[in-house]
Amino acid sequence: MLVCHTIKEIRDFVHQARSRGLSVGFVPTMGYFHEGHLTLMRRAKEACDVVVVSIFVNPLQFGPREDYDRYPRDLDRDVSLAREVGVDAIFHPSVEEMYPPGFATYVDVEGLTECLCGLSRPGHFRGVATVVTKLFNIVRPDRAFFGQKDAQQALVIRRMVEDLNMDLEIVTVPTVREDDGLAMSSRNVYLSPEERRAAAVLPRSLEAARRAYEAGERDADRLVELVRSMIAAEPRAEIDYVELRSVPDLQPVSRLEGPALLALAVRFGSTRLIDNVVLGSPDGVL
Ligand code: AMP
Repeated sequence: MLVCHTIKEIRDFVHQARSRGLSVGFVPTMGYFHEGHLTLMRRAKEACDVVVVSIFVNPLQFGPREDYDRYPRDLDRDVSLAREVGVDAIFHPSVEEMYPPGFATYVDVEGLTECLCGLSRPGHFRGVATVVTKLFNIVRPDRAFFGQKDAQQALVIRRMVEDLNMDLEIVTVPTVREDDGLAMSSRNVYLSPEERRAAAVLPRSLEAARRAYEAGERDADRLVELVRSMIAAEPRAEIDYVELRSVPDLQPVSRLEGPALLALAVRFGSTRLIDNVVLGSPDGVL
């Protein structure tokens, strides 16, 4: 497995693969791998001849009071995990490589980014859309793989790819969870043991809403209230939002008719966790 630190190195690698007629799968990440990341890589491996993974903690998508500096990083461990999965190349650029002096161009996806995490994290999706555009232009993949755990991000990227006529397929992969249901996240390491135990209320509340939906509940307020009340009963949890919105447009809904995203963001101490379920979609994915 090749580890590239410059744009030229990864471009040369992909160019060689392409000239041999091989398809290229791409998994963009911020590193500190867990089973969620590795599942995306395995999916990419199944679907493509060559798999490229990027590891880049993108300063552009962090707010000034967010966790950019303390975001967990462990390149050596990530490299060996990716090697075990059979990844062909890792792209691990520096901030200067990605944003040299004079950098001045940004990608803004309107509408979809003006709700849910877009409200509590202004500028976040602009940072994501900009870095993902750059990474797509550098790697030029046939398919890129995103986790449903970041459902709004996956929808924003799909919209951007369609609007800007980017020539690749976006694949969404179901959320990978711990034994108690908590969605895997690099940020789970921030949680104290008590917060970690308390955080299991998130998947439990989403699962309760899913069961209520399956039992016939179609009123959005009642489904949201079910989730809110379960989380509010957990003293360590502080709700940022719990909302039900249409898929793929993320419009507010009052009665569920088509597929909808039940999404939440909740703080445990200084750690903000997100999770979601898709209701009314045959396979539960976006
Ligand atoms: P991150 O490194 O957190 O930016 O995540 C990189 C990619 O992995 C994104 O497409 C995420 O949606 C995806 N991902 C993160 N956590 C999970 C998870 N628990 N299950 C599935 N995909 C995930």
